[in-house]
Amino acid sequence: MYRTHTCGELRIGQVNDVVSLAGWVQTVRKFGAITFVDLRDRYGITQLLFGEDLNGALDANPLGREFVLQIKGKVQERSSKNANIPTGEIEINVNDFVILNKSAVPPFTIQDDTDGGDDLRMKYRYLDLRRNAVKKNLELRYAVNRSARNYLHENNFMDIETPFLIKSTPEGARDFVVPSRMNPGQFYALPQSPQTFKQLLMVSGYDRYYQIVKCFRDEDLRADRQPEFTQIDCEMAFVEQEDILNMFEGLVKRVFKDVKNIDYTEQVERMTWEDAMWQFGNDKPDIRFGMNLSNLKSAFSNGGKITSTGELINGAGFGVFDNAETVLAIAAPGCAEYTRKQTDELTEWVKRPQIGMQGLVYIKCNADGTYKSSVDKFYSEEKLKAIADSAGAVAGDLVLILAGREERTRKAISDLRLEMGKRLGLRNADEYKLLWVMDFPLFEYAEEDNRWVARHHPFTSPKPDHIEVMINNNPLIENADKYLEHPYSNIKANAYDMVLNGNEIGGGSIRIYQRPLQEKMFAALGMTEEEALHKFGFLLGAFEYGAPPHGGIAFGFDRLCSILGGSESIRDFIAFPKNNSGRDVMLDAPSAIDDKQFDELQIKLNLK
Ligand code: ASP
Repeated sequence: MYRTHTCGELRIGQVNDVVSLAGWVQTVRKFGAITFVDLRDRYGITQLLFGEDLNGALDANPLGREFVLQIKGKVQERSSKNANIPTGEIEINVNDFVILNKSAVPPFTIQDDTDGGDDLRMKYRYLDLRRNAVKKNLELRYAVNRSARNYLHENNFMDIETPFLIKSTPEGARDFVVPSRMNPGQFYALPQSPQTFKQLLMVSGYDRYYQIVKCFRDEDLRADRQPEFTQIDCEMAFVEQEDILNMFEGLVKRVFKDVKNIDYTEQVERMTWEDAMWQFGNDKPDIRFGMNLSNLKSAFSNGGKITSTGELINGAGFGVFDNAETVLAIAAPGCAEYTRKQTDELTEWVKRPQIGMQGLVYIKCNADGTYKSSVDKFYSEEKLKAIADSAGAVAGDLVLILAGREERTRKAISDLRLEMGKRLGLRNADEYKLLWVMDFPLFEYAEEDNRWVARHHPFTSPKPDHIEVMINNNPLIENADKYLEHPYSNIKANAYDMVLNGNEIGGGSIRIYQRPLQEKMFAALGMTEEEALHKFGFLLGAFEYGAPPHGGIAFGFDRLCSILGGSESIRDFIAFPKNNSGRDVMLDAPSAIDDKQFDELQIKLNLK
């Protein structure tokens, strides 16, 4: 037997017990004739004391960092206790030890505050994983996993595996493909998600399915994306949207309770996509704080009301506003006292390439009732007051205004709102605020191809009262500039996203389950009948054999874990993640393969 206890287990109550431990040497400290060693395993750290009698043995077998050590000894009370660790009141007086394995000098210190940079830690990820900080993240991940499984199991969901080698049907992201040796010239694709399989399982009668499953998307990796990531993927039959929303806010609340001991008892707020865009400029708003947008002038026509302020800001000879497609504002509470330096710095902030604005206009709503702005030349104080009022500002606030093209300005003001929220301490990491965003547009206009693409995916159903519009209108976009006037741009989907603190943590929809509507959907996306059959014949076929109404959702498991762990990075919650270029620097993958492998696959490289 290698050990009687773990390194995190022994307490003062076990003094005088004879125990054996095994673990890794974290530190060796010599004090005259005695040597202290911190022995570490997954469960904690225990101090070992090697007395004078072991000096000879230690000289013959010196210990080094990360050596694997087995010891026997007696538990004793420590003279200087360490209140920071649970075993801090005791130590083991060692009477025998065996070095089970030596270690080379590790490339970085395996401690909470490591001296290892990102690249080094990724190359030696197996060492990085020994560190407490990383271990805690993996423990949290497992806790989320367990909690979700328990909840789903208790609610009759069945975990059913679906294949990884499937057919390539790119729509949305690019597929990763795998050549088939047995079928030369043919390729499998790795699933972007088990979407069609879970729908087929509904046709098969498994009315509650889930899987915690890897998904693969060959995307250009924007910040904090992984080419392979994990979803909590779920589907239910005989449900309406309301059933899904209730079931899955239950899931997240359960995870909050189990993992963070948070009682999230209130109903999760709901907001339409249009309201989210209109009020926050963003389809995943952080609603931990207000600072809602005001549209001083907007071309955003999807249901948004053009505010009367448009007239106020127009025609003052201030070209930036007069000529802009959109003018949007937020009122930053209590910031009227910002100095010139601070407003200049904010202006530089919005001019950064990531934000891409030309400039920033501000109005200070001074406590004494006066108004001061960067556009004093163009607007009377009375007008400034009127603008500030319509931006919802009160005395003490700083109104921040951006103007420009609709989409960019909306994104920029949304980013500015989040930044101001952060600077003002309104985005408290310990506060969790969930939100359902609903009624997304069914289609998005793809400028490059002048066609419609599915905003979510092609299996999402339109809102029941929008089905007619979809069926009765030709999807063809005759005038690209006026695509917003095409009836398809107003069709809303039975789709919903769950948002947590400004992050999309899950998304799903009620599905189409009738063949004719699914065919119409494929046609709307520009697929010919043959293409639709070639790519999705299996699904259309299945819809002929008694497909029940169904819907589902998938949660981004890595993201959920990172938010609950208070980290910005999903990589910290993945045991063996890839870097920003999609490389596994530990394995050095992807890499070239042997000529023999190419021969077997009958593939010739044609690198450009
Ligand atoms: N399969 C979808 C996705 O990966 C989620 C869903 O509709 O259930 O986004």
